[in-house]
Parts: sequence; C-alpha cells; structure tokens
Amino acid sequence: MAKTSIEMRTPPPPITACHDCGRVQQLPDLPVGSKAMCGRCRAVLFRKTPDTVQRTLALAVTGLILFAIANVYPFLSMRLEGQIRETTLITGIAGLYHQGMPGLSGLVLLTSVLVPLVQLMGLVYLLSPMVIGRLAGRSAGVFRALQRLRPWSMMEVFMLGILVSMIKLAKMADIIPGVALWAFAGLIVVLLAAFSGLNPDDIWRRIPLSPRARDEGVHGPVRAATCHSCTLMVQVPTRSPWGNARCPRCNARLHARKPNSIQRTWALVLTAIVFYAPANLMPITFTRTVAREQADTIMSGVIYFMFSGSWHIALVIFVASVLIPILKLVSLIYLLLSVQFRSQWKPEDRTRLYRFTEAVGRWSMVDVYVVTVLVALVQLGPLGAIEAGPGAIYFAAVVVMTMLAAESFDARLIWDKKD
Ligand SMILES: [Zn+2]
Ligand SMILES: [Zn+2]
Repeated sequence: MAKTSIEMRTPPPPITACHDCGRVQQLPDLPVGSKAMCGRCRAVLFRKTPDTVQRTLALAVTGLILFAIANVYPFLSMRLEGQIRETTLITGIAGLYHQGMPGLSGLVLLTSVLVPLVQLMGLVYLLSPMVIGRLAGRSAGVFRALQRLRPWSMMEVFMLGILVSMIKLAKMADIIPGVALWAFAGLIVVLLAAFSGLNPDDIWRRIPLSPRARDEGVHGPVRAATCHSCTLMVQVPTRSPWGNARCPRCNARLHARKPNSIQRTWALVLTAIVFYAPANLMPITFTRTVAREQADTIMSGVIYFMFSGSWHIALVIFVASVLIPILKLVSLIYLLLSVQFRSQWKPEDRTRLYRFTEAVGRWSMVDVYVVTVLVALVQLGPLGAIEAGPGAIYFAAVVVMTMLAAESFDARLIWDKKD
C-alpha cells in the first residue's frame, strides 16, 4: 500500500524521446491538468492527470454490464407486411458466415464484439488490483496488448453503419430500435471515456522494472533507446544488436526504428492497391425480391442515396468508402517516397499528415457494417433478402491492409538525417 502511494507521487521521467519524431527532450515539472508537447513535432509527450485508475475501473465495470445487454437483447426489428424480424448483434455476423464469408464475418465479430469485450475485461483485470495497491500477474503484457488493440475496436464506426442502414431500410419498412441499441450507444460512450480518461503513464509508473534488468545493470558503452510501447528510456549495450534487447518494463523488443518499416509498409500498400479495383467494381450486396435481383457496388450505393433525397448519407458513404481509402493510399505512398528520398521538406506537416492518416482509416469500415446489418435484417423469405457480395470482402481487405500499413510506418523516419 505504502509503496504505491510513493510511486504515485513520483515525478514523470525527466527525459523522454518523442514517439513521433524521436527527439530526446527533458520534461518540465507539470501542474495537474496540463500536458507536455514535443518541441519539434507537437506530439503529446506526457499528460499530468489526477489519478485515473479508479474512475476507469468504474467505467469498465459499467461497460461490461452494457455489453451483456447489448448482446442479449434485440438490436433492431424490422416490420414489413405483418412480418417482424428481430435481430441481435450476432445475427448479421452469423448471416455472413452462413453466406460463405467466414473471413468477413470474423472481422466484424472481432472489431464489434470480441475486441471491445477483451478491452473491458483487460481493464478490469488490470485495474482492480491496482485500486488496492497490488499488481495483477503480467500487468505489463496485458496493458501492452490493450494499447495495441485500440484501433481495432470499432464500435463507433459500427454505430454509424447501423444509422446508415436504418435510413436505407426506413424507406421500405418500419425499423424499431431495440433495447440493445441503446445499451450499445451507452457502451460506446463508456469505452471512449474509459480510454481517453486513462493516462498510460499512470499505469506504466506502477509497473516495476524486471528484477533481472535491475540486478544485471548495463556495462560498457551504451546507446539510448525508447521503448515504443511503454515510452521507457532504456540504455542498451552497444555490442548487443537491435531486436535482441527487450524493454525491462514491458518486455517489448527494443529498436531504434520499427524493423523493416519501409518494406513492410510498401508491401501492405501495394496489396491494398491490388484489392482496391475488385472492392469497387464487384457488388457488395445482392438484393433479391420476387420480381428481380439487384447487385450494388459501393458507388451505386452512393448514387442511390444521392437520388433518394439522403444526400448527407451519400456524402458520408462517399467520404468513408471512396475518398478515405484513396487519400490514405496516396498519403502513405507520398510519405514512403519522401522518406526514401530523404526529403527535408516540412517534416511537421508530413508528421501531421501521418497522424491524420492513422486516425481516419478505421471509419472506412462503415460500409462493411452496413452490409452486416442489411444481411441481418433483410431476410424476409419470399418477400426479399439481401446477401453480401464479393466486393465486400475485397473492400474489407483494403481497409485492413491500409490500417496495418499506417501502423507499420515509423513516423520518426520523417525526421531522420535532419540533425
Ligand atoms: Zn516529436
Ligand atoms: Zn517498454
């Protein structure tokens, strides 16, 4: 107990290296409520917040209750000509699976159900012992995993997908929101509050260095490295190659830069480009009614919304599904080339472009979720049914590849060779 309260008062590490540009700098002693920004690229280096562990734990427990409600009760109901079809969150995922799309179904299951559940359980596991001054086993590994999973929790994007589908279906049937929909909306707010309120430094400060690292110490000439997952400044002996050394706090591998960042990012970008054509040319949904069968591509969906009076929905789909993937690919190619040609041109702006590229990518998933909801709801036997088309698989692949590409790009390369 006493030990924890001492650690809580420990000042932030006085020296740190910026995770976006790599500059090593001293952190000032900050008043609570303020943050330190990188003097070169304006990244946030450190936030001094009041202790956030208890509040985040309370939010995570609330989140688990909402999660249970969101998955058990009906989500949306559709009423058409006397038929009522009720769906839960899982219905659409199961529908995709039965239509022979296990990969797509798995991706939706992962991003809208499993990752949020793991996040909530991970937070409760990690934080409940911390409240009474103890540490759960493998705390560092659990927190590292939680931070890595964050971009893959896409409930807010799924919510946008639900709204788009509701507007689309409202023209042909009565759509009744269920209890689970409200719980889901609450859950989004709770998870967002939990993660934006949780100061990672609060957690890392409580996790001690591994005893082996402390006992062994470092002998001989050293070079400094920053752990990319927990931001600890570590001294690595010059004789041990990068990649062999591990962070004494979180056990992540230490590198000066992410390994093979440029090659890996190129490979992912090129794969995404290959998938881009079928994603846009092949149908993402088939609508079958007694009278006819209609195949829709992403663009025909945009045009449908534009001419049916919902131009704002047309705009949302166009931006998320057409514009963002292109912009992401173009910016990543530009960043890769600028790094390879060692461009010195406006590194601040290029870093900003990278941050933007990394942040917006997940919103492209919205069309995948729209397909999931449509597949779940529109199963009215002879009256009509909607099935997912192969375009949806390619499109999801584009989104995943560009997200992985942004993740594997090391923004510090932009600043290398500058000073
Ligand atoms: Zn910086
Ligand atoms: Zn670390």
